[in-house]
Amino acid sequence: EGTNGSGDKPTLSVVTEAGFMPFTYLDKGELTGFDIDLLEAVMGEAGYDYQIENVGWDAMLLSVEKGEADLAIAGITVNEERKETYDFSSAYFESTHKVVFREGEGITSGEDIKDLKVGVQSGTTGAEAVEKILGKNHENISKYDSNTLALMSLQSGDVDAVVTDNVVADEYVENNPEANVEMITDPDTFESEFYGIMFPKDSEVKEDINSALQTVIENGTYSEIYQEWFGA
Ligand code: GLN
Repeated sequence: EGTNGSGDKPTLSVVTEAGFMPFTYLDKGELTGFDIDLLEAVMGEAGYDYQIENVGWDAMLLSVEKGEADLAIAGITVNEERKETYDFSSAYFESTHKVVFREGEGITSGEDIKDLKVGVQSGTTGAEAVEKILGKNHENISKYDSNTLALMSLQSGDVDAVVTDNVVADEYVENNPEANVEMITDPDTFESEFYGIMFPKDSEVKEDINSALQTVIENGTYSEIYQEWFGA
């Protein structure tokens, strides 16, 4: 275990899922995103060195559950079900879901996906939202290991629509004009949710990191990072 300048703090192991642009993704092989910048600010404030590894969604959850990683960040939604298995920081970002679909599909509400083939990222709140509409494990739901793969399946025509987090949908639609897709949101169908940093249940660093997150939010650093990524 390494130490940082202040002496006695361990180097923390952070895991992420780099298929969730603009929160965590790879740019020319390098891990980048809003969450990556926020993490750096929070860890700096808390005085921890850390190593971050892109392990994918399922492995990320498992390594936090087992306590092999000290924390995870990847646009992870805090909800009651997950709180049974993990601990979370306070919320740092509000989110909801959007439906991304091929132009002309005529989708105007969440319920409109009911008779379509829908792609989701397995094990996410987007997958849950779709199961509420179509039914649990419905045959028209295709589950992918990453959001990136779900969106690729939309382009290739394997599914008619993809449900994912609103900011991720915004980024995808804006960056892929040649994909000929459009999107809608629907506050009557898709609830508001919040992202948090995820910790193992018995985390000894959670309090430290959560208070650093509060400082970063209160001292304007969060706003600077937000401005950089979302320009508002
Ligand atoms: N916010 C969603 C969830 O927690 C998706 C996160 C992700 O795919 N990285 O389920």
